[in-house]
Amino acid sequence: MRLTDAMRSVFVELLVHGPLSRAEAARRLALSPSALTKVTKPFIEAGYLREQAAGEGTATVGRPSQPLEVDASRMSFIGIKLTADELFAVRTDLAAAVQAETSRPLIDHEIDNVLGQIVQAIEDLTGEDLTGGGRPPLAAVGISLAGTATPDDPVVHTSPFLGWSQLPLARLVEEAVGVPAVLDNDVRALTRVQQWFGEGVGHSAFALITVGAGIGCGLVVGDRLVTGQSGAAGLVGHLAIDDRGPMCELGHRGCARAYVSSPAIRRSVAGTLDRPELTFEDCLALARDGHPVARRVLDEAGSALGQVVATVANITGPELVILSGEAVHMYGVCADAFQTALARHTHWTSTPVRVVVKPFAFNEWARGAAVTALQHQLLHG
Ligand SMILES: [Zn+2]
Repeated sequence: MRLTDAMRSVFVELLVHGPLSRAEAARRLALSPSALTKVTKPFIEAGYLREQAAGEGTATVGRPSQPLEVDASRMSFIGIKLTADELFAVRTDLAAAVQAETSRPLIDHEIDNVLGQIVQAIEDLTGEDLTGGGRPPLAAVGISLAGTATPDDPVVHTSPFLGWSQLPLARLVEEAVGVPAVLDNDVRALTRVQQWFGEGVGHSAFALITVGAGIGCGLVVGDRLVTGQSGAAGLVGHLAIDDRGPMCELGHRGCARAYVSSPAIRRSVAGTLDRPELTFEDCLALARDGHPVARRVLDEAGSALGQVVATVANITGPELVILSGEAVHMYGVCADAFQTALARHTHWTSTPVRVVVKPFAFNEWARGAAVTALQHQLLHG
């Protein structure tokens, strides 16, 4: 099916905001009822859109037509997240619901070996038959990693911990599996999930801040995901907080990462107490129990995170900030320090931004990569 711009707009509107009555869809897209009918007809005939079954939703008996919705089962996508030592992959439907997942160790970062693992993971998730074999056909593959990569460029520019630069990974995957493949920065891929299927729906400006091994930041401004030059937007991880603070891995004294990342928190508590066996979770538990050293480290972490969020909010003016990532549960241990710092560093003419804390499951990273593939396919494919 050849897609016009109007067809893409209608389909995305129904995917993100549907089910919608025809009148509501036409109103949202500023189309006449007859134009909407013309645009939706090919999708309905091909089975991508359908009328919600009678009795479902809010439609009342006797109305001439039921709300329109996307049949999410008609296409599948694969998302792959690469870390330094493991590959995580999921298969999703058109609505980003995870249908299956798998993971594989990465023994090294030799491209042939990594490519072999990517192909294996895709075969695991599609039953070796890339045309579907009874399942909906695989439309595209998304691959995300920490580093500079964007969906409109097949090349990983830099990924320090994979040791790659200028690697045409998307092209290599496409050649190996025969379906379109796109790359993305991992935090921006997560931001896309929130934009179309999460807390960001209905907001034209929001930020996603992730905490875990580092600090990530994805930005949507004016309904567009901000990528910046070569995908370099949102690098808040080493923001200066206090030049008397602890040191990060790169030797910055008192940067945000040195306060907030889970390895830094663990290092500070375990180092001060001379208890190298303590895990990050142990440190959270000690702080929760009021242990003074752990309490101080977590308060400082919360305070630094509040300053990061206020700084992002001051610069981009988001309607909300979503906090997520592997270590986001630390928020429960340092919320007071976070809120105090957020209020203190928010510009005096603004009220502190609304913050939503989103629990995190590790397969969200791979799901993000699937949504990168899905967005790219629907908007540009
Ligand atoms: Zn740093």
